[in-house]
Amino acid sequence: MLGPVILAASRSDKMRRFISAAPGTKQVVDRFIAGEGVDDVVPVIQDSAAKGLEVTLDVVGEDITTPEQAAAARDAYLELVGRLKELGLGARAEMSVKLSMFGQALENGHELALANVRPVVEAAAAIGTTVTLDAEDHTTLDSMFAIHEELRKDFPQTGCVIQSYLFRTEADARRLAAAGSRVRLVKGAYKEPASVAYQNKPEIDKAYVRILKTLMQGDGYPMIGSHDPRLIAIGQELARQAGRKLDEYEFQMLYGIRSEEHIRLAAEGHRMRVYTAYGTDWYGYFMRRLAEKPANLLFFGRSVLTKG
Ligand SMILES: Cc1cc2nc3c(=O)[nH]c(=O)nc-3n(C[C@H](O)[C@H](O)[C@H](O)COP(=O)(O)OP(=O)(O)OC[C@H]3O[C@@H](n4cnc5c(N)ncnc54)[C@H](O)[C@@H]3O)c2cc1C
Repeated sequence: MLGPVILAASRSDKMRRFISAAPGTKQVVDRFIAGEGVDDVVPVIQDSAAKGLEVTLDVVGEDITTPEQAAAARDAYLELVGRLKELGLGARAEMSVKLSMFGQALENGHELALANVRPVVEAAAAIGTTVTLDAEDHTTLDSMFAIHEELRKDFPQTGCVIQSYLFRTEADARRLAAAGSRVRLVKGAYKEPASVAYQNKPEIDKAYVRILKTLMQGDGYPMIGSHDPRLIAIGQELARQAGRKLDEYEFQMLYGIRSEEHIRLAAEGHRMRVYTAYGTDWYGYFMRRLAEKPANLLFFGRSVLTKG
């Protein structure tokens, strides 16, 4: 029951101000956010590389309200690509972007987001890496998939995310399970109505397995985005049944969540990519992490009370 309440709060400016200013918030945020700027995240990437992990980097931010903010988001990613190039980390690190941060919800937002994300995808390709388009709430997805298709004409390695809680996703997966297509499958982190999405965990998990089977049996590159031990085991089995080698799919998990499992899977020879978020506009990202595991809220509450 708490999850939907926290997700509703993730869209409230009043709550944003309250939570951002609360003493003790930073300590909990630090578990999920790798730092404020590029300089903070570089040691984290280097540490991941030393442990045999790959990363996908997310400059946190979403739902911006002006074209200038969208341009700033583009520039933040371009700065990141520049640092990856300097450090020779292009092969280890890819990037994840939210199109709402690139202006998707503004006037002519579809065109604006495409115009802002294209230079980032180009710059990433020039250093030998790529970009994955995150999936946001269901109203944004037709535009996201159209931008993905457009980018893939020049940069076929551009990835996208699909969410098993949405009814539409089985059809999206069949379309995307094509040669060269990089697709991250997740359960879904937004508050969605019953008209478009499964509302309970067993149905979401069953859909995840059906969709993963489609991706594994297809010709694309599946990216299993989950911390769920059962789904990870099923993912390994589906890959085996589909005759995939270890470099023909990968696992992905979030920075700060089940870190020991990142190491275990990498040690087994799997490609393991850690979604590493950094930046100052962490509120929406942080609240979704609280909503996924209400026990995090207790930890957060305790931290605020102790510091307050
Ligand atoms: C790499 C990656 C990228 C993602 N990108 C997107 C995206 O683009 N769009 C989108 O809608 N969603 C995205 N998500 C979030 C996803 O939709 C789920 O909300 C999230 O992964 C939790 O689901 P789960 O599969 O881990 O399973 P769950 O059943 O929720 O969790 C399984 C176990 O993992 C641990 N766990 C999970 N979440 C947390 C947490 N927040 N704090 C502490 N422990 C936790 C717990 O031990 C839990 O029992 C992404 C997730 C990952 C891993």
